[in-house]
Amino acid sequence: MSRAHQTQVLVVGGGPVGLALAIDLAQRGIKVIVVEARHPGEKPSPKCNHVSARTMEIFRRLGVAKELRDAGLPEDYPNDVAYRTSFVGEEISRIPIPCRRDRYTATGGPDTWWPTPEPPHRINQVFLEPVIFAHAMKTPGLTILNRTRITDFKQDEEGVEASAEALDSDEKIGIRADYLVGCDGGRSIVRKKIGARLSGTDVVGRVQSTYFRAPDLLARAKAPPAWATFSLNPRRSGNVYAIDGKETFILHNYLKADETDFSSVDRDWGIRTILGVGDDFTYEILSEEDWIARRLVADKFRDRRAFICGDAAHLWVPMAGYGMNAGIADAMNLSWLLAARLHGWGGEGILDAHQAERLPITEQVSRLAMNHALSLQKEREGVHADIDLDGDAGKKARAAAGKALYDLNVKQYCCGGLNFGYYYDASPVIAYDGEAAPSYTMDTFTPSTVPGCRTPHLWLDDGRSLYDAMGAGFTLLRLDPSVDVAGLEVAAAERGVPFEILDVSSSDAGSLYPQKLVLSRPDQHVAWRGDRMPSDPFALIDLVRGSNTDRRKEANREPLHSSEVLL
Ligand SMILES: Cc1cc2nc3c(=O)[nH]c(=O)nc-3n(C[C@H](O)[C@H](O)[C@H](O)COP(=O)(O)OP(=O)(O)OC[C@H]3O[C@@H](n4cnc5c(N)ncnc54)[C@H](O)[C@@H]3O)c2cc1C
Repeated sequence: MSRAHQTQVLVVGGGPVGLALAIDLAQRGIKVIVVEARHPGEKPSPKCNHVSARTMEIFRRLGVAKELRDAGLPEDYPNDVAYRTSFVGEEISRIPIPCRRDRYTATGGPDTWWPTPEPPHRINQVFLEPVIFAHAMKTPGLTILNRTRITDFKQDEEGVEASAEALDSDEKIGIRADYLVGCDGGRSIVRKKIGARLSGTDVVGRVQSTYFRAPDLLARAKAPPAWATFSLNPRRSGNVYAIDGKETFILHNYLKADETDFSSVDRDWGIRTILGVGDDFTYEILSEEDWIARRLVADKFRDRRAFICGDAAHLWVPMAGYGMNAGIADAMNLSWLLAARLHGWGGEGILDAHQAERLPITEQVSRLAMNHALSLQKEREGVHADIDLDGDAGKKARAAAGKALYDLNVKQYCCGGLNFGYYYDASPVIAYDGEAAPSYTMDTFTPSTVPGCRTPHLWLDDGRSLYDAMGAGFTLLRLDPSVDVAGLEVAAAERGVPFEILDVSSSDAGSLYPQKLVLSRPDQHVAWRGDRMPSDPFALIDLVRGSNTDRRKEANREPLHSSEVLL
């Protein structure tokens, strides 16, 4: 038996990255087929626990943020990160993170001040994926073929021809598409087929990881519950994440450098030591989820009409909770570029932007995550022998460790820089103006309208989020309504580029938006800015739609002052 399908974009893999990509493409009017080996709505293994603010901003635009915010832990369950001598032992330190009920209103916390309409959300992937899947199923133009596996594909000038097999029958399926995107995870066949190679650090560490049910655990702890509870003691350090806020947890036992085999440490001993419980404690293992922490990045993200995103393109230790979130950022970067090309207004060069923009960021983030993992490893290895003693010696050791743990870990659990700080500084479709983007670290960032940066968020005077007011295509943010922008409007219309003008009235704009005009791309990154319309609006529109890369090469040769570029 055989059957054939035709579509514009074929997404291989319906994990969080593939589904986010497919929803965004479909919302942009592109026909998409997602091929996924799992059953419809089948839960993944319990990996990701942190959905970043930037990803939540994206989910807000895709129309699924509210449903996601309502899912996961109970609404009043603290999202804090606690450091203790063991799960039931003495608390050493705590990073306060609001529960989801208070997430939009809380103040005074290390991440409550962030300039975003959507703060981060702590939810495990087992709850997240079914919500995204249900949203995808309701999205017109999007078809999901579950229990189907892509086995091969080839490309020609006009498109991609993929072969698939139904997993519950002997049916063979052929799928013809204009483009194919591999969101097929760490073992990606698409990555292999496009000849991309992973390079970096094969092993940063090993983690014996156990998903378990223990209805009795929370009641045994002395301190209030937390979303993440880290045990630090000389015997065995590890981390426990609350999954349902009642009885299910995932526990990471960080193996030591000489424990090179997952079975070299007795699992039950590790669990009991990290929890600080004896033989009277009972728990049920739901699954064993051991993993190797790595730092691997593909050397290319594209071969002609085939691309890779998410874990297919990069794998790194999930410090700062930034694997899926980085993958969704890849997907949102690629989505509008593909849509532009398929709708006909994106030029030949527009698809080159994906790798030029995302590969450098991927390298940077992978190194930040790995370096953080190595710092934590040192922290665990250097744990003071007195840490869980009663009396003054223990108190002193805990006080010293508490401050160090807070200072080190607030960076990863409140990683504002990874959310808002990254910028694209070598793109063929951005009109740079010579000013360097502000630098960022894992936790620090400076909102900026330097081309390539995330369009800084602000609240409009009428109470709306800037992002809610912006269009799905390019939005020209006009900070002074007297500036004439008709020429840009005409150029965009003639080239078929989706373009809206938004007069920004906001008491927050001040120094955040020093120029009167900012052109924001469909992915909410700045494409251009200036105080007046460029003298050649067509040149700017052609550059940002990937049809005039020569202009940028000129601009790159000699850095120009902002007001000179393309005027
Ligand atoms: C312990 C742990 C904790 C983590 N915590 C976080 C966190 O807090 N935050 C974060 O952002 N990330 C975290 N991550 C990383 C995160 O889980 C991954 O980055 C994320 O799942 C990647 O999503 P993806 O869609 O790229 O790939 P996957 O989730 O692997 O999905 C790939 C999909 O493709 C399907 N597939 C594969 N091959 C084929 C084929 N040939 N045909 C059809 N279907 C196919 C698979 O069935 C799968 O559904 C964590 C990871 C681990 C291990």
